[in-house]
Amino acid sequence: MTPLLALHGVRLRYPPGFTLEVEALAVRPAEVLAVIGPNGSGKSTLLRVLGLLERPEAGEVRVGGRAVDAREALAERRRMATVFQEPWLADTTVVGNVTLGLGFRGIHGEVAARRAARWLERFGVAALAGRRARTLSGGEAQRVALARALVLEPGVLLLDEPFAGLDQPSRTALIADLAAVLREDRVATVLVTHDRGEAQALADRVAVLIAGRVRQLDDTARVFQTPVSEEVARFVGVETIVSGRVLSRAGGVTRVEIGGRTLEVAAAADPGARVRLAIRPEDVTLTLPPEQGGGSSARNVLRGAIARITVTDAGARVVVDCGFPLVATVTPRSLGDLGLVEGMTIAAVFKASAPHLLPGLAPHTP
Ligand code: ADP
Ligand code: MG
Repeated sequence: MTPLLALHGVRLRYPPGFTLEVEALAVRPAEVLAVIGPNGSGKSTLLRVLGLLERPEAGEVRVGGRAVDAREALAERRRMATVFQEPWLADTTVVGNVTLGLGFRGIHGEVAARRAARWLERFGVAALAGRRARTLSGGEAQRVALARALVLEPGVLLLDEPFAGLDQPSRTALIADLAAVLREDRVATVLVTHDRGEAQALADRVAVLIAGRVRQLDDTARVFQTPVSEEVARFVGVETIVSGRVLSRAGGVTRVEIGGRTLEVAAAADPGARVRLAIRPEDVTLTLPPEQGGGSSARNVLRGAIARITVTDAGARVVVDCGFPLVATVTPRSLGDLGLVEGMTIAAVFKASAPHLLPGLAPHTP
């Protein structure tokens, strides 16, 4: 399958300290590829290079498998559409904004109006067609910007933090609407974001960019469940990363000693090996300890004192001292039902399949 758009051996420096270095990155037909990473990791720079807005010092941008030279860049750029964090609308009506790009491509009148109306409808802003763009709310403006990009039927849609400026309800609603559009129309899309939740909601594949380099590129679920390194694990939301020693391996279960406790883990490792375990907070549940009526069939039930509770949007983040700090996320409901308070003894429960072994340590260190 020839990728639609690809980077090969790309290098670009911003003195004094930043270098983008991408061996290979390909956008496949019909996929949503998210590029995630912390602020300053080079995501916008990478997107500008992909979008032929900035030339790398070394390497190639390939369209349909062929390197694009400077003369062809403008024509190729016209086959892409970009939406940025700031919607950047022209000071005219909503429908005027959406038909503007069509006009540049020689599509006018009835045909242009029909296409514009259809895309405004799909983004739920058809009723705003006659409004001046500058009177729109942030969420409405971003919907218009997306309609204006998609009406051009681009070969590739490039999105740079398109939801970052929006408040929570409009952000969530727009992510859901865009997900529906992309699912139906299968427009190849590159989504750049520092928000891993957006990547989980929208992307088929995820590239993790840290300090100008792609550290992992894989199917979305695999990146989140099996990060290749501690820095990727931290970025994709793994909170517990602990070192332990393998005690035994039998019947598909590896027993690992960590902080004086024994954990049962599905991942394979040899007895005696030192390992690093990564555990996602949403894979850990809290229950009352067995003597207080709590029970679980999960492999791992660790008693510990609650060291810290931090209330978040989605409930709470709870750190349990199990001989090592184990982080769990709990819903507001279980926070209340269990009467969780700092200092109380609780059971932290997770399946043998929850911990992921991070590569990197020598497999047979005595
Ligand atoms: P991100 O989008 O991941 O936040 P950027 O691609 O915007 O990161 O920036 C990566 C690094 O390059 C940052 O250190 C930034 O300050 C620097 N940078 C970005 N654009 C320029 C530029 N035009 N000139 C010089 N430095 C830049
Ligand atoms: Mg950026």
